[in-house]
Amino acid sequence: MIADATLDILPKPKLLIGGRDMFDASGGTHGHVYAATGKLTGHIPLAGPEEIDAAVAAARAAAPAWANMLPNERRNILIRFAQLLQRDADILTRLSVIDNGIPLSVAQFGPHVAADSFLYNAGWTDKIGGDVIATWPTPALDYTRDEPFGVVAVIIPWNGPIYALGMVLGPALAAGNTVVVKPPELAPYAAMRFGDLALEAGLPAGVVNIVPGGPAAGAALTTHPGVDKISFTGSGATARHILSAVAPRMTPVHLELGGKSAAVIFDDADLDALDAFSLSGVVNNSGQGCINATRLLVQSRIYDAVVDRIRAQAEQIALGDPMDAATRMGPVIDDRAVQRIMGMIERAPGEGGRLVAGGERAGGALADGYFIQPTVFCDVDPQSELAQHEVFGPVLAISRFDTEEEAVALANGTDFGLAAYVWTRDVKRAHGMASKLIAGNIWVNGFTGIPISAPFGGVGQSGQGRLGGIHGIREYLRAKNVWISL
Ligand code: NAD
Repeated sequence: MIADATLDILPKPKLLIGGRDMFDASGGTHGHVYAATGKLTGHIPLAGPEEIDAAVAAARAAAPAWANMLPNERRNILIRFAQLLQRDADILTRLSVIDNGIPLSVAQFGPHVAADSFLYNAGWTDKIGGDVIATWPTPALDYTRDEPFGVVAVIIPWNGPIYALGMVLGPALAAGNTVVVKPPELAPYAAMRFGDLALEAGLPAGVVNIVPGGPAAGAALTTHPGVDKISFTGSGATARHILSAVAPRMTPVHLELGGKSAAVIFDDADLDALDAFSLSGVVNNSGQGCINATRLLVQSRIYDAVVDRIRAQAEQIALGDPMDAATRMGPVIDDRAVQRIMGMIERAPGEGGRLVAGGERAGGALADGYFIQPTVFCDVDPQSELAQHEVFGPVLAISRFDTEEEAVALANGTDFGLAAYVWTRDVKRAHGMASKLIAGNIWVNGFTGIPISAPFGGVGQSGQGRLGGIHGIREYLRAKNVWISL
């Protein structure tokens, strides 16, 4: 039996608008459930159109002063924010575990990644300027001004709220924008604490507003006339809704969406090093990660050996209490997710997939939570549901290839393009694959997370725009050109 969520650490559920807490909202409430036990933790007030209006108004009111603040002052506030995220990393981690059931051993990185994003982006605040542009034939001075958009609506998913807040708000705030954040009702607690820390750090009231809510709140926010830019992290289905809903206003949208990322494993790969990676797509966040390697494409000569090694490893993975620091794999988010994932598992053999490990919902002491065994299928048909659709759960699809050409076609053979992984000892082949794979991010012979200084994002159905590095700052600035006759 898993211990109940430690309710005493939970903030009283609230919204943060214009620097003030609100404990009631017009959008009703959501009964939040701890994924590890299936038990209610509290009732989350949901923003309705009224609160969305108030939050956008607060962000608009705060925007000019924040954009015009001396860059070194804005920098110092963001550095202070990062320090508070580090100071409260432990509580933020535990709130993140209660939010979505992702084990402490994984969730513990979130506050530090968020802090790193603020530290990194704080460094850009005093370097944002513009360029002098060559002009002809009329003598002129032409220069650009990099300006913030104004109010950014930030919609984040439930699978890593603190992580997403750090990745998006780091550049958005450093660039001089104010934000209205809509955390998902499924995972709201860590974001509430994040809002408290923003105020404590000295961010002026209204620069960061936090309005938990569901799809209705998201729709009201993204279509609001006071919003100048949208940052959406979530599923392709919701992204399509947003894009059509904002078409009349043509609000610019930055999209970080899902994936079906392939790892191409050539027969010269270091199989011992590979062992630490092969099941990561299933184990990390119980497979609920956008960049997880959920398809393994394995060259024929080593195919059986790799499948055997993965089977042996999968049998060793114990599902357990996400609050226990030793647990590597916890539950999935809710019962709806269990039904969806189990449906895909049940359909896979009908499309040719051969079950290697797992395949069942966990019972016994875990029966009240939403635990699914780490599940592996081999011989997966590249056109089948398991190879083409994001499961967002702990299910790995292994397929075979013979030639490099075939591997490239298989890896590129979905509508997604977020990440791709290559395992080979041949440097020339690694570079060749990196250029041929259609994805925003390529990792070769290992994965240690997303570097904060590097561009991150997808192509195709995996999104548009980039976070991280100078690309992230540019995503939240727009260039204005100034031409002065000389
Ligand atoms: P989702 O699309 O269901 O929800 C995402 C957010 O959108 C939530 O806050 C939700 O309340 C809101 N929303 C729902 N309907 C809306 C509407 N009509 N208008 C505006 N907002 C609306 O996705 P999810 O289930 O929360 O998250 C899982 C998805 O997110 C997966 O596809 C995953 O791959 C993707 N993801 C991508 C990244 C990335 O960086 N690329 C990171 C994490 C998750």
